[in-house]
Amino acid sequence: MNQAVKNWFDQNSHLLDEAADKIFSYSELAGNEHRSAKALCDLLAADGFEIKMGIGNLPTAFSATWGSGSPRIGFLAEYDALPGLGPSLDESVTFNADNSAHGCGHNLLGTGCVGAALAVKAAMQQQNLPGTLIVFGCPEEETGTGKTRMADAGCFDGIDVAVAWHPDKYNIVQEKVYASMKMIDFEFFGVASHAGGMPEMGRSAMDACELLNIGENYLREHVDKGVTMHWAYLVVGDKPNVVPPYAKIRHCVRGTNAKMVAETAERLLDVARGAALMTGTQMKYNIWMDVKDQFINKTLNRVYFDAFKQVEPPVYTQEELDYANKMDGYNGFAPIDEPMSTVLEPFRGTGEDELYDGGSSDVISVSRLAPTVTVRTACVAKRIPFHHWTYAALCNMSIGHKGMKYASQVMALGTLALLENPQLIEQAKSEFKEICAQRM
Ligand SMILES: [Zn+2]
Repeated sequence: MNQAVKNWFDQNSHLLDEAADKIFSYSELAGNEHRSAKALCDLLAADGFEIKMGIGNLPTAFSATWGSGSPRIGFLAEYDALPGLGPSLDESVTFNADNSAHGCGHNLLGTGCVGAALAVKAAMQQQNLPGTLIVFGCPEEETGTGKTRMADAGCFDGIDVAVAWHPDKYNIVQEKVYASMKMIDFEFFGVASHAGGMPEMGRSAMDACELLNIGENYLREHVDKGVTMHWAYLVVGDKPNVVPPYAKIRHCVRGTNAKMVAETAERLLDVARGAALMTGTQMKYNIWMDVKDQFINKTLNRVYFDAFKQVEPPVYTQEELDYANKMDGYNGFAPIDEPMSTVLEPFRGTGEDELYDGGSSDVISVSRLAPTVTVRTACVAKRIPFHHWTYAALCNMSIGHKGMKYASQVMALGTLALLENPQLIEQAKSEFKEICAQRM
């Protein structure tokens, strides 16, 4: 491993652990990540990065820039939490009052990016390497829109490469794609009435939502195999004796590619129109989020895979393994000898048409602007579900810290390889241009 990078982590890892724990203790939801963003900016500012808050008209987005000239490397730092994960079933695991927590590990995510940038800076200074490092504070990932709005506002313009990572169950360079996704908000407008006294006068917006959901469940069987659909109510009636005059529901359509998502979404709109017709309500919809196909960059994937090989995967203590097994137990799994992944997954060099895990990310929006790489490291046990309180619990202790530092080191070394070998960046950019020509 590069000596300057190694030294940086030897001397400063504790700062990353502290920041990750601090951000976990805040567990701020999308759009409200003021203290979390500040915790990261404080670390960056203390090391000479120039901070701009509120970029792209998002109050909790920021850029932190150091260096000058080309190449310009962007790190995509996230720090929003998820609502309503708890209560945890384990007495040792406590979340804040409304049970929001980092069930996706974003307390580690943003912090790991900051560590990578600071370590690369140290190496660049020592080797006199030219270039600009920009840590992008990217809020509102869990609602799926932060980076997309930042991209639309031009925040990422001019970057040569974007570097991302995500806490995971495995140590791997992400070669498969995130799901393409549309989120559609449906509003139904009905007529209020006394549900017992004069129900014949009422037209229920809630009924319309329920019929929409039933229709979606029937639609499910007759769409492309790569499609998944799910929903959550945003506004519902709260009094059974009033026919709900208004309801709002968010539906999410995901798929392996944007084409199948668009086709399914069109049909879902028809289902919603039918639900309105059946209930005598009015329907309005708004496509709240739309991310298309992710562009994978094989050149960057190879570079960061090579970086992975320079770092030993974390080693876990028996106490940590016991804790991982304990969290697995809450998900119904019996203890095993190796609850944590301790190996680097092989490099495939393929896989663009396969989904990584069925989830989506606004990282897609950046991947369509510049060559983008995503590193993933084991921060939770192999069998833990994402967006679950046990996932949050593992991201708030030494297991998560180890995964974060591993990712941070890999990102630093991969980025350093790019800065030392600018022809790799040119190669990544020409691959990117080819993909754009084929698929934009
Ligand atoms: Zn996430």
